[in-house]
Amino acid sequence: MVFAHDTEESLLAAVALVNSAEAPETLTTVAELEAFYDRFDYTGRHDRTRTELDQVRDLRPRLRALLLADRDEAVRMVNEILSEARAVPQLVRHQPLDWHIHAVPPEAPLATRIGVETAMAMIDVIRADEHARLGVCADGDCLGLVLDLSRNRSKRFCSVACGNRNAVAAYRARQAATE
Ligand SMILES: [Zn+2]
Ligand SMILES: [Zn+2]
Repeated sequence: MVFAHDTEESLLAAVALVNSAEAPETLTTVAELEAFYDRFDYTGRHDRTRTELDQVRDLRPRLRALLLADRDEAVRMVNEILSEARAVPQLVRHQPLDWHIHAVPPEAPLATRIGVETAMAMIDVIRADEHARLGVCADGDCLGLVLDLSRNRSKRFCSVACGNRNAVAAYRARQAATE
């Protein structure tokens, strides 16, 4: 594990959220937001409304900028998000997790909580100076984000589809070169 469990979960969720803006766009319906909520084991307020969906969708460009920011810019953005939300870090324990940090109450809007969770996770990235773990997909046509949590820092593609497409292209290029 590169970071604490809850940090890694928050970063994975943030990357999935940001990548949902890439074509073919997902997170376009309340049902898709509900699936996202379940997939990343969110707890707390979940309105299941168009307003909530729009707030979460509108968060995506800001999170993308945060995840790709250099270290000093990330610090500025994290501090801004935490003060805007009047975050007060508290250790909490609820199923299925052991002690971890919530910095805003469970009744805060979902988009606020996702933003604050991402900011809290970025605190660990900043302190460990591990920004190289975050980047853009190595596929030349893809703008998806990649979070590399592998021990040997080998993850380069945002998805299995991008990885496979590039493996096939590399194979064809090798075949053509030997013909
Ligand atoms: Zn929690
Ligand atoms: Zn990709």
